Amino acid sequence: MSKTLDFFKNNAQIDSAKHCAACGYTCCTLDENNFIVLFPWERDEATRVGLSMAHLPPMQDNNPLYVNCVRPCTGLNDYKPINCATYPMYPLTTDLELWVRGAKNRCPIANIHLRKQIKVIADGLRKIEFVHPGSIKTLVDFTRIYKGELELFEYGLDGKKLSPTQITLALALMRAK
Ligand code: SF4
Ligand code: SF4
Repeated sequence: MSKTLDFFKNNAQIDSAKHCAACGYTCCTLDENNFIVLFPWERDEATRVGLSMAHLPPMQDNNPLYVNCVRPCTGLNDYKPINCATYPMYPLTTDLELWVRGAKNRCPIANIHLRKQIKVIADGLRKIEFVHPGSIKTLVDFTRIYKGELELFEYGLDGKKLSPTQITLALALMRAK
């Protein structure tokens, strides 16, 4: 079983393991168009606590923010990036009030499940932000670039449906260049 950094209660991927096994780890099939976001500090921190990054070589352009994954992270000490642990959720705003999710046609995890997880994910990201300021903005910037593959998650941190005003704002942010 792989491990992520200790920012998330229940070590994130957060109770999604049964869904992931059932779908055959679809989102782990990565190619040049499908990659993982790695925070600039993440590789060093994972290595420092003894986790292996061997399956996560830098991409060809050496961009430290994105990596491919070359084999399943099934080893005991294999590192699971934070992006993998929180997939399919991505924050759309730095206050973590608005979210998008990975395309439903690829990830079968139902919104009802994610509604229960979203606060855990947000709390973990806030802990990360405390230790590594700017990390949430890095992720939000990524969300806004990558939004074509993502769809609005119509629920807030309390699991309740967003208000019409929030939905309008979120859709505008997703449309913005
Ligand atoms: S696509 Fe969804 S269910 Fe499948 S491995 Fe990825 S996160 Fe898990
Ligand atoms: S690190 Fe693990 S969870 Fe992430 S893409 Fe690779 S196999 Fe999947």
